[in-house]
Amino acid sequence: MSILLDNLTVSYQRRPAVHHISGQFVIGEATAIFGPNGAGKSTLLKALVGALKPDAGTVRLGAFRRCDMAYLPQQSEIDRSVPVSVLELVSTGLWHATGPFGRLSRHGRDQAVLALEQVGLADFALRPIAALSSGQFQRVLFARILLQDAQLILLDEPFTAMDAKTTGDLLMLVNRWRSEGRTVIAVLHDEEQVRAYFPQTMLLAREVVSWGQTSEVLSAANLKKAVEIAAHWHAQAEICAVDEGHG
Ligand code: ADP
Ligand code: MG
Repeated sequence: MSILLDNLTVSYQRRPAVHHISGQFVIGEATAIFGPNGAGKSTLLKALVGALKPDAGTVRLGAFRRCDMAYLPQQSEIDRSVPVSVLELVSTGLWHATGPFGRLSRHGRDQAVLALEQVGLADFALRPIAALSSGQFQRVLFARILLQDAQLILLDEPFTAMDAKTTGDLLMLVNRWRSEGRTVIAVLHDEEQVRAYFPQTMLLAREVVSWGQTSEVLSAANLKKAVEIAAHWHAQAEICAVDEGHG
């Protein structure tokens, strides 16, 4: 059983953001997606979730259904001005069970409160989400994932701009998910976190530079190669910008 990518290419306005990605994610394991800015990491996650359609190639989810997935987008993509309480937001993690218009049962409410306790926010249930710090908000989103009880958990830069305490606490949750046999795929930008908590890594620079055991993937030679590929596409972009400026 695995999640299989076969020659996957995903583009925006016909410009490929990732191309010819082939390989498989190990089930029941934590995989980091690591690579330079603009490497296509978020694009790849969105293709896994089904939010973006491949131009070519396929994503095979094996035994997983889309409803077995929990997806946490990058914080910059989340609208926090919506006037809902912490409890209401966390409870949306039960939609797979209740449907979006189902009433929150007493049991559901208890589960939501329990999830908030597990991320250290027991006293925050009735606060508006707009009143939370970014670290507290991220804890709320992790509580929602706890409630979703998903077997496949996709996280896009979950610890970027988080304080050390929040990062440490949430990394413990990732460890717990691994020990429960869940599959975690997370975009990370901190190499130390990858080495410490993610046994598998995909090193991405629009193409796969290397994919497998973290200790082998994050070799000096592979990291250098990823940086060189990124430098090449930045140079290309500058040439195009100059050309377009003259055109
Ligand atoms: P990463 O997450 O690794 O930083 P992204 O997947 O966000 O990279 O972006 C990969 C490439 O696709 C970048 O060149 C980016 O500018 C481009 N891109 C991302 N989102 C869009 C979009 N909505 N429309 C057009 N281009 C996009
Ligand atoms: Mg990104």
